Amino acid sequence: MPQQSEDTYRGIPYFISLEEAIEICYDNPISAEIEKVSIDDAHGRILAEDLKSLVNDPPFDNSSMDGFALRHEDSKNPPNTLEICGTIQAAADSGSVVVKPGQAARIMTGAPIPEGADSILMIEKCDVEGSVVTLNEEAKPHFIRKKGENLSLGKVSLTKGTYLRPARVGLCATMGYPEIPVFRKLKVAIISTGDELKSPGEKLEFGELYESNSYGLAGLVSWLGHEPVRMNSVSDTIESLRQALDEAAENCDLILTSGGVSMGDWDLVRKIMEEEGDLKFWRVKIRPGSPPLFGHWKNVPIFGLPGNPVSSHVVFRMLVAPFIRKSMHTQEPKELELTVTLQDKVKVVDKFLTLRRVTVHNTENGLVAMQPRHQGSGNLESLASGDALTLLGEGDSGEIGSECKVLILG
Ligand code: AMP
Ligand code: MG
Repeated sequence: MPQQSEDTYRGIPYFISLEEAIEICYDNPISAEIEKVSIDDAHGRILAEDLKSLVNDPPFDNSSMDGFALRHEDSKNPPNTLEICGTIQAAADSGSVVVKPGQAARIMTGAPIPEGADSILMIEKCDVEGSVVTLNEEAKPHFIRKKGENLSLGKVSLTKGTYLRPARVGLCATMGYPEIPVFRKLKVAIISTGDELKSPGEKLEFGELYESNSYGLAGLVSWLGHEPVRMNSVSDTIESLRQALDEAAENCDLILTSGGVSMGDWDLVRKIMEEEGDLKFWRVKIRPGSPPLFGHWKNVPIFGLPGNPVSSHVVFRMLVAPFIRKSMHTQEPKELELTVTLQDKVKVVDKFLTLRRVTVHNTENGLVAMQPRHQGSGNLESLASGDALTLLGEGDSGEIGSECKVLILG
């Protein structure tokens, strides 16, 4: 059970635990739609239905070696010399060759096993002289790949919610599917807010900086298999923000903003959501990244992410990614959690989930984590050079030598 919020702000849950925030998001999922795509376009998509194999794999008994197919009986007590009764390179040849006692058929990897043969001897163990072959070892029955030994016809081999990584797309082809049912990609609007933001390539005036959040967030959206729509950053006025949110709600399934969600007078995302949106919660007990809000703008779900670059990224991974996965009936792509021993002291924040950027090393004493960078939430380099985020919660000390769970950064 998620911990109940101790506080409310204007009637909405305020400063809640991450678990409680996730529960509220889960109560408001985006409904997933199904489309069929060509197998060529299935990479990185989420499978929308269970897939049953349309064939046996392999479809027929075949050789796993280049060599000779023969009766095992005839290979006992080597060496033995047998008559070569034919060559089987592919399915077309197999019907014409029958292996009788005292005979062997030359066979290529993947070719069907001829009638009469029950084992294979690899070519390296054979001496061929004209129309006879001398077997220098006993033949191997397990060099025959049996029909259906990998997949049997009708067996569900990929389930709904599977993230289609390359081997799985290959498996769709093995099973006989030219088209794959997948969940339609979500279009995710990304809007950065702030008068001080310039795009890389533009000239910076004093007080300005390069906008980075939208690029990292776009990568995170793509990583989950969806379509980022990176919009121009918006200046700090209610009018321009309203216009951008309206445009995003018109064209997209989900809106992410960054910046403007704290207490300041210019924190207009919070202000406009309070006054004109449908706010579901504000602020979460994680550090960094405590300011986010969640709600709906014109019925489209919206996350107001913090402006600090580390925070916007961390909140995506901890809050937005679970929400998107849940909406798509999947737990993939999987996140990897490991237990490490801390080699540096990590500052924990009482009653918060503390997410520090650490490097992880495999040593003779097991996995250890170090915190080589300063942990300011504006220090994107600490995230870029880190291997993992600490998951320090209730009861964790963060002391040197203590164990701690970490989330590996992909
Ligand atoms: P805010 O939450 O709008 O007060 O922003 C917090 C800090 O994050 C400020 O130092 C901003 O300049 C910075 N910031 C806000 N948005 C971005 C962005 N898109 N890219 C890089 N830094 C940002
Ligand atoms: Mg701002």
